Amino acid sequence: MTPDQGTTSVRGRIAGPTGVIRLFAAGTADFGSHHAAFGPLPEMDRASLIDELLRSGLDGRGGAGFAAWQKLSSVPADGRHPAIVANGAEGEPLSKKDAALLHNAPHLVIDGLLIAGQSLGARELHLYAGAEQLDPVARALKERGESRIRVHEAPGTFISGEATAVVSAIAGGTPIPRDRTERLTKSGLNGRPTLLHNVETLAHLALISRFGAAWFRSLGTGSAPGTRLVTLSGNAGGPRVYEIPSGMALTDILLSIGIDPHTVQAALVGGYHGTWLAAEQLDAPFSKEGLAPLGARTGAGIIMTLGSGSCGLAATADILGYLARQSARQCGPCTNGLPAIASLVERLAYGDTDGKLPQEIRRLAALVTGRGSCAHPDGTARLASSALMAFGSDVEAHLRGRCEALR
Ligand code: SF4
Repeated sequence: MTPDQGTTSVRGRIAGPTGVIRLFAAGTADFGSHHAAFGPLPEMDRASLIDELLRSGLDGRGGAGFAAWQKLSSVPADGRHPAIVANGAEGEPLSKKDAALLHNAPHLVIDGLLIAGQSLGARELHLYAGAEQLDPVARALKERGESRIRVHEAPGTFISGEATAVVSAIAGGTPIPRDRTERLTKSGLNGRPTLLHNVETLAHLALISRFGAAWFRSLGTGSAPGTRLVTLSGNAGGPRVYEIPSGMALTDILLSIGIDPHTVQAALVGGYHGTWLAAEQLDAPFSKEGLAPLGARTGAGIIMTLGSGSCGLAATADILGYLARQSARQCGPCTNGLPAIASLVERLAYGDTDGKLPQEIRRLAALVTGRGSCAHPDGTARLASSALMAFGSDVEAHLRGRCEALR
């Protein structure tokens, strides 16, 4: 984590933070510190903001990783006033970064929401987050006398942060995913064009609007510019949230926070909908391009390490059981497929030596993929399939009636 010099300001009033700590550079959550560190709220028209975001290379930090400029530019400029939503729901149990951001730098998220709203001519601004985050947000809004943003409580369920679930909840409905026949940016909240960004994405947008794309790119790599928040947990403790340069190799991330990669037998990257990587794969860059060849993704910036004394199949069975219970049970793959996959992996993890189990897990994983109204079955199937790959020798050992870790 080498500090770098990024000092170009779009407006030339104040220099951007010069180290790796950007989002938390104000030090404390109050408006005075925020203003001293970052300066006044900039105003940007739609074209300038889209152009700056395009040149910055900022991608979404909520999980899907869409280019921020593309999402913004897909909101129609047809005279309708769009709604803008800051999504800090964070239903993923392994992610704590949005909570950390809303507690420690709520004004950056508010700035991002106001800048995006002003540039798109929005009349409705919403912030959606878990109950524990509402107090710091309410305090920040009061501090700056800001009454244009409506705050909504997200329930603590895994799928409550899915985009259509968020829009449904804000409209007064149930916070579960809906069939998406039209993009939210065309028809979302109460039929209005709706731009929904993760809170971290909006915080970066607020900094890019002030200090420019070149400043943003002064850290990270060409294809993974800037910094990002990651939540680390696992055999070395945590969860803890860190701001790191994007595109760092996983082993370097571990080393930089004092974890010896040799103590790690595997890592789950991308969260409960993510992918297990074996120890020999951990030199991959933690970025979209770096993880894609391994069939993995950064998700919401989650890394969970598994120590050498733990059983990866047992850990996976526990997570799959949780995911099967979290389904909204609206679609067949969730209602029937996910409990069946969870049960098969549990049998494999805890003593059933039926040699057909791996094959059946793969068959069901393929069967549910792409069949739900949302990506919950796909993510759950990906996790199960990746466990069979990353823990291949453990699968063989379990089928012989042995478990090296649980002996
Ligand atoms: S796929 Fe599952 S989680 Fe997604 S909408 Fe259908 S039942 Fe709900």
